[in-house]
Amino acid sequence: MTNIPELFGSLVFNDTEMHSRLPKEVYEALKHTMEDGEALDLNVANQVAAAMKDWAVEHGATHYTHWFQPMTGITAEKHDSFIVPTADGKVLMDFSGKELIKGEPDASSFPSGGLRSTFEARGYTSWDPTSYAFIKDGSLCIPTAFYSYSGEVLDKKTPLLRSMKLISHQAGRILKLFGEDADATVTTTVGAEQEYFLIDKEMYDKRPDLIYTGRTLFGCKPPKGQELEDHYFGAIKTRVSAYMKELDEELWKLGVLAKTKHNEAAPSQHELAPIFATTNIATDHNQLTMEVMKKVAERHNLVCLLHEKPFAGVNGSGKHNNWSISTNTGVNLLSPGKYPENNLRFLLFLVAVLKAVDSHQDLLRLSAASAGNDHRLGASEAPPAIMSVFLGDELTAILEAIETDSPYHKIKKEKMDGGVDVLPQFRKDTTDRNRTSPFAFTGNKFEFRMLGSAFSISCSNIILNTIVADVLCEFADRLEVAKDFEREVKAILKETVTAHKRIIFNGNNYSEEWVAEAEKRGLLNLRTTPEALPHYISEENIELFGKHKIYSPVEMQSRCEVLLDSYSKVINIEALTMLEMVRKEILPACSRFANDLCISIQNKAATVGAGAYEMEVAKQVTALTDELYLTVNRLAENLEGVKDLTDGKEIAQYYCDKVLSVMQEAREITDNLETITDKAYWPYPSYGELLFSV
Ligand code: ADP
Ligand code: MG
Repeated sequence: MTNIPELFGSLVFNDTEMHSRLPKEVYEALKHTMEDGEALDLNVANQVAAAMKDWAVEHGATHYTHWFQPMTGITAEKHDSFIVPTADGKVLMDFSGKELIKGEPDASSFPSGGLRSTFEARGYTSWDPTSYAFIKDGSLCIPTAFYSYSGEVLDKKTPLLRSMKLISHQAGRILKLFGEDADATVTTTVGAEQEYFLIDKEMYDKRPDLIYTGRTLFGCKPPKGQELEDHYFGAIKTRVSAYMKELDEELWKLGVLAKTKHNEAAPSQHELAPIFATTNIATDHNQLTMEVMKKVAERHNLVCLLHEKPFAGVNGSGKHNNWSISTNTGVNLLSPGKYPENNLRFLLFLVAVLKAVDSHQDLLRLSAASAGNDHRLGASEAPPAIMSVFLGDELTAILEAIETDSPYHKIKKEKMDGGVDVLPQFRKDTTDRNRTSPFAFTGNKFEFRMLGSAFSISCSNIILNTIVADVLCEFADRLEVAKDFEREVKAILKETVTAHKRIIFNGNNYSEEWVAEAEKRGLLNLRTTPEALPHYISEENIELFGKHKIYSPVEMQSRCEVLLDSYSKVINIEALTMLEMVRKEILPACSRFANDLCISIQNKAATVGAGAYEMEVAKQVTALTDELYLTVNRLAENLEGVKDLTDGKEIAQYYCDKVLSVMQEAREITDNLETITDKAYWPYPSYGELLFSV
């Protein structure tokens, strides 16, 4: 039996290790840096580095790496060994404070969105002491920030840390006004639920589309999909269960609080949710989780797909970003308490979020924009591309009462009665869940559900923290000079609800009526990534991020460019993969099939008489083959057309309009071909084989 408490965090240089291995003054100096952001002294760094190295070597590590999160959305690492040659021709294991604090990876191969040219290759990584170092595959991994020679941010961690500091400060101002403990610090917390698919490695290896693009570019519907709804929360199969067990253990070793696992709606789809943590840690841990998910799958002869829409016609995978604000004394500022109607502090934070989301719909939307997620947002399985907030009946009624100056009649909690005496009775929640909302209040936190499974949660949280902090800042400015504090709070509540109630929607977000209603309310509907991303660099947004020193204008420009470019590249790879599959395998296979049918027709005509089956199918296959041939030729031509464009935004829009749309046409023809072609000729495993073979 594994001893879980002992296993947990065994590969993390955590507080316990630091405490026991560092001299008291060093430990305290480091804690100061971690908690109060004080600059780290080189002498302290040297001692921390030595202790870290000893610990790492004891745990089998031979190398160290600065582990960072460039704008690719995945993590990067460059490994150096601890060895240092000695005079006698031997080596010793060494690691200095300087090596711990600063690294110098070549920055020129990471996307920078024009922030630096290849000849300005220098980039720096610097230790983020607020996130613990850990061991992965025999290397001591040091979480770091990544920036260019001239100081521009090249990663996803630095702005996140800045945004956390910002919201901590602004929320602190509000708390102080409510007479709270002046020393309490505020942090945002996040729990990221992660969905994924597991498929058999042998099947995966036969699908170039999965290998190159992470999703299937073809595949007709299997006879059984998810219509019986028998997979969600269903009993977990042995092979999957073995995978999940090992995944949990690997994550626990890394200090990731993996908590919940279950089957999801689609066949072969599953979910993992951790216990929430500080945003920075939750972000690092989600990156690690995705990485470990893939790695553990290999050991089970499985492949973990994190793409948002690996299979058409089957639910895609999302990521739910559960977000809240708490004090270090354990008070959740989004907790309504028993009487939310009288809880002014809670209501103030609540309306701050409402205002932030309504005023910055574009930013939240674009934080979930990617080529992969475009297949998901707005389909009837995921939130639409329209932002709205679900509050539930109780809070909505409270806000209505505030807006109209009318008394609030508390909704009574009904007793739950299952009609069976042996079942324990409990009080029902006052509001049901709403699974269709992109931004739902779920008891004491908001759940942002637009994110796709492959995303880093960093960008969404940078945005959430910044937009909420901006509103809190505005509230604090007013309240700090108010003569009658309580009256001013109430005035702010009323004004804010009146101005931003349009963002509240408790109904079915998947319905057609909502799209029309949202348009009437003037809410944004940015359907695709090329439509959403340019909002990054709107005047207001540049000003907002500049004002709070999260991003400089060039940094925003660069982020927008990197994302647009990555969208275009993804579609380009998909289109090239499609061309290769169609031209080299699908068309020849269909041609062989039709030819064999024709031979059969001839043979039959000479003996038993012409066969209707062969005749019909040969005609259909031939017609569809020709149509497919022409369609992929058009696709190839359109791909050539990209070369005439230079502007990133135009290029992305072109890929969306002129490439993706033709790919969709080619897919439909191919899927029709697959349904009528003899299985023996079809070059790839079917959806049925991919989805039901584990
Ligand atoms: P569901 O599937 O119903 O959406 P889960 O229980 O799977 O919910 O996941 C809820 C997530 O929310 C978990 O990761 C949990 O740790 C997280 N969570 C709970 N409280 C907070 C909080 N105060 N701040 C951030 N995340 C939270
Ligand atoms: Mg959820």
